[in-house]
Amino acid sequence: MRTNISLEEALEILLKESNQTEPIHVPLMDSLGSVLAEEILSDMNMPPFDKSPLDGYAVCSEDIKGVSKENPIRLNVIDFVPAGYVSEKTISKGQAIRIMTGAKIPEGADVIIRFEDTDFTDDSVTIYTAYSTGSNISKMGEDMKIGDSVIQEGTVIDAPEIGILATLGKSFVQVYRKPRIAILSTGDELIDIQQPLVDGKIRNSNSYTVAAQIKKVGAKPLMLGICDDGIDTIVEKLKSALGWADMIITTGGVSVGDCDLVKEAFQEAGAEMLFWRVRMKPGTPIAVAKYGNKLIFGLSGNPAAAYITFEQFVRPIILKQMGRQKYKLMEVESILENGFTKTSSQNRFVRAHTFYQDGKYYTQFPEKHSSGVLSSLSGTNSLFYVPSGTGPHEAGDKVKVQLLDHPEVLK
Ligand code: AMP
Ligand code: MG
Repeated sequence: MRTNISLEEALEILLKESNQTEPIHVPLMDSLGSVLAEEILSDMNMPPFDKSPLDGYAVCSEDIKGVSKENPIRLNVIDFVPAGYVSEKTISKGQAIRIMTGAKIPEGADVIIRFEDTDFTDDSVTIYTAYSTGSNISKMGEDMKIGDSVIQEGTVIDAPEIGILATLGKSFVQVYRKPRIAILSTGDELIDIQQPLVDGKIRNSNSYTVAAQIKKVGAKPLMLGICDDGIDTIVEKLKSALGWADMIITTGGVSVGDCDLVKEAFQEAGAEMLFWRVRMKPGTPIAVAKYGNKLIFGLSGNPAAAYITFEQFVRPIILKQMGRQKYKLMEVESILENGFTKTSSQNRFVRAHTFYQDGKYYTQFPEKHSSGVLSSLSGTNSLFYVPSGTGPHEAGDKVKVQLLDHPEVLK
């Protein structure tokens, strides 16, 4: 087992060990946020017919050649066609059809005159402006043509893709399956959140924070609840989860204390250790094992350490498993609003709030930032990365900051 490895090594090992899930068919609306596992070809023209992009009169361009304010033309209105209907009449010389946005262009018409350029009564229209042939007509297939490749495999399905798929009548689409992720919080001191506090105990917040992080990434969290620091109970929980989960995340019990038996439990459950301890703060004791092609992450129990190591290591792996090609956090240069005087022999991630103003990013830190403090993570959206041996940093310094939640912005 490798130990005390760098951040880069840890991520490299994890990316190498993680595989994309298999493609599955899901109902259209369930595909939002998933990665498309098929190329979408259009089997229709869109629009399927020449249609009017505005409310007006369908006429024959021959009739309006040379018309002007001084020399208008009056045409007989022979029909009215709203969107969704088709006129059965054909326009001949001297005739027009009143037409609404979205309606099919009637036979014989090759230009649409908007209301604003006419005067009309119930059965006639006077036109003052000449338009060239084809004006104001949305041509059949101008959006999509039969055979067009309209969405590439690997595209993340967002609202526009949902709309395109709906246009094409796809009520099911093929996407990479969202991984099922089991979460187990270990620690004799833990009680369920519904329980009243008793001396020596704390409520299990990690399961909830981690489940929320998993949900935000788009995967499926399943909380296994809490379990004590006993190796047998941990092994039992792991074994049952390995039956159905694609990945397991535990928190607590990975440090060097007498009750820290999670690594041993991973091995007892049949998993092979990949590494233990990464040169970073918070979250140093992270332990990762693999069981077949399933990864088991043992995160520190300290709430902020679990949160930050999830963002560094678990999130990119889930994204990769879901078929995403971009999974790294966006890094920007930002100006410190307050100083960070601590120097560290370790690589450090400091929770921060970063905002953009007048072309520049600015970063502020909350007062409390120790790995056991959860409350000050609220309102943060970024991590200030302080490589070992750097600092102290003063207000005004330009530094590198990771923005959480923005992997898609990267090229
Ligand atoms: P450990 O990683 O087991 O050494 O735990 C480190 C610290 O995190 C201890 O103070 C634990 O009480 C706390 N802790 C462990 N698990 C949780 C949890 N699920 N929710 C909140 N705090 C926890
Ligand atoms: Mg513990």
